[in-house]
Amino acid sequence: MLEQLGAVTRQVRTPADLAAVDALVMPGGESTTMSRLLDTAGLFDPLAVRLAAGMPVLGTCAGMILLADQVLDGRPDQRSFGVIDLSVRRNGYGRQVDSFEADVVVAGLDDPFHVVFIRAPKVERTGGAVEVLASHGGVPVLARQGHVLVASFHPELTSDRRVHAMFLDMVHTSAATAA
Ligand code: GLN
Repeated sequence: MLEQLGAVTRQVRTPADLAAVDALVMPGGESTTMSRLLDTAGLFDPLAVRLAAGMPVLGTCAGMILLADQVLDGRPDQRSFGVIDLSVRRNGYGRQVDSFEADVVVAGLDDPFHVVFIRAPKVERTGGAVEVLASHGGVPVLARQGHVLVASFHPELTSDRRVHAMFLDMVHTSAATAA
């Protein structure tokens, strides 16, 4: 999606990979496993430093869990970066079979966005600094706090690039501010 929008992308698996990027996508997957792999790859601490320094980040689904301030129903040893002030419940919409799709209205976008939820996390609290950009059934599903953009759905699973375009705007703004 990001390459279609003109960005150069690479996978980040090591601290050296991380040092080479200006921004990061933390994708869906399994947040407990991702938390463990971030530790074993030596990525957790360098990533925490980059996030504290304002690196733009897009967290989707499990990525949202990893960025959240509070994780409910997490595994006790699961870690999160706490860079967006919200509480999120793992698998808050139910099990794999309860995965679903919907159309949501997104702030700043003219037409609704079709969203795909896969064993998605459910946001149960947002702090005052969090801007809710889209909700479904009264529950935030797309939110931003400064350089941190999170979605409980998978914006990469449709051909609609508008959430990724929103993120690239954040990346370009942050690069312009830093220059
Ligand atoms: N349920 C997963 C978790 O707890 C997230 C699912 C996803 O990323 N699609 O990490």
